This record gives sequence, structure tokens and C-alpha cells, in this order.
Amino acid sequence: MRIKLVAGNWKMNGTLASSRALLEAVVPALAPLKRANFAVCSPFPHLGLVQQALRGSNVALGAQDVCQHDNGAYTGGVSAAMLADLGCRYVIVGHSERRAVFGDSDELVALKYAAAVRHRLTPILCVGETLAERESGVTEKVVARQLDAVIGHCGAAALERGVVAYEPVWAIGTGRNATPEQAQAVHEYVRGRLAAAGRRMADAACILYGGSVKAANAAQLFAMPDVDGGLIGGASLVAGEFVAICRAAQSSKETVKS
Ligand code: PEP
Repeated sequence: MRIKLVAGNWKMNGTLASSRALLEAVVPALAPLKRANFAVCSPFPHLGLVQQALRGSNVALGAQDVCQHDNGAYTGGVSAAMLADLGCRYVIVGHSERRAVFGDSDELVALKYAAAVRHRLTPILCVGETLAERESGVTEKVVARQLDAVIGHCGAAALERGVVAYEPVWAIGTGRNATPEQAQAVHEYVRGRLAAAGRRMADAACILYGGSVKAANAAQLFAMPDVDGGLIGGASLVAGEFVAICRAAQSSKETVKS
């Protein structure tokens, strides 16, 4: 299996000028990498500029959140239809910062996932446990609950239309990544859970790891059999780091495959 997707999550960072400069460094460097898919998820106000900068490249456009409604009196909302119209292919839903800071519940995340699918966007569904939850041994229970909310609302087949990102909350932005073995264990569990909807679907699923991925640890994480790629936060804002992570994805698993 090859690495399927490396997506950058810029979070709420940057200016139009810094986003442009970042892409001027990243896009040409990724052009020769044909063995994986790449994306950047930019803040809403930068999507237009990023869309222009990515035109004709092998890097897809993504957003970081979406409103659950399609249109109407939802001041401040950005709909999936608007994102699709702008050229987005991906949208992150259920990021732990949305869950913790903005109160996105499992049910709301499921509605957002459904909105994305309705408009042919690929939702990147983030799941993951807090440190307290890991330490009390309920990691799988938490991840199952977060997945089941989407399966319950959208149906198991809808997971075929999306990507799952396992992002342990304690690893996001902390510099403390999950070990490759910890990531593998949860990814294997997620794939097993998806198998309830069909083995073929589970085998084809794209399960990303996110949480303090950097150039120095990407290759080891990507070498794990159930790690299909990465969702990269802080390191995606540093051109050299992001490009090195994407190169690690490109060369990952080649030896395993041959
Ligand atoms: C993220 O924001 O999704 C993330 C994984 O952040 P970081 O890589 O900075 O831990």
C-alpha cells in the first residue's frame, strides 16, 4: 500500500502574503511527487488565493470546517456548496480544536460530514482521545463513539466518501507525537471498525495520522501498515518541513510493496 494523502492544516495562521510565499515554495517542490496525494486546508479568507496558487498543480484545496446547513439565515456560516464552488476538494470536520474550543458535538460533526458529502467534498473526519482518556484506557471507546456518530447519521457507506484522521489530542501541537506503534494500534482498530461496513471498504479506507508529525518522525509513522498518510498542523506552515514530510510519504512503503 502506498501513502494516500498528506494534508496540511494551516489552522488560523498567516496573511495573504505569507500564504502566497508558502505556496511558492511548496507547490514546485511537490510537483515531481506522483506517488501520493497532497492537500492544504487554508483559512476561509485565504481560500481564493490558495485556489489560484494551486491551479494546475498536484496539490488539492481544502477547508478547515463547514456549516452543517446548505444556505440561508446562518450568519457567519460557510456552506459546503460555497466550498465546492471555490474549488475545494477536502474539508476537515471534527478537529479537536473545533470540538474543544467551539463545542462541536459528535452529532454536529456528523451533520457537517453529511453536508460535505452532499456537495461531493471529501470530509476529513478527525477522531482522537485526550490524555486523560488514554490514561484511563478508553481510547478505543472514544474513537468508536466519534466514528459511530457519523455512521449512525450518514450510514456506514458514507465513510467510503471520506477520510478518517486519527489525531490524539495530547499529540496535537505539543511536539509529542504518538509512537508509530501507538498510531498503528488505533489505526488498526479504526480499520476493523470500518470493516463492519464491508471488508473491501475498510481495506480501501484512507486513515491519516495527525499529531506533531514532522520531517524527523514522518517516515517511521508512514511505515506503519495501517497509516495511510498524515494530517499535518504546525509543520505544514514551514515549507521545508512540509516538503520533507511529503517526500517521506512519496518514498514510504516502496520496499514493503516490491
Ligand atoms: C492538526 O492541527 O491537525 C495537527 C495535527 O497539528 P500538529 O501537527 O501541529 O500537531
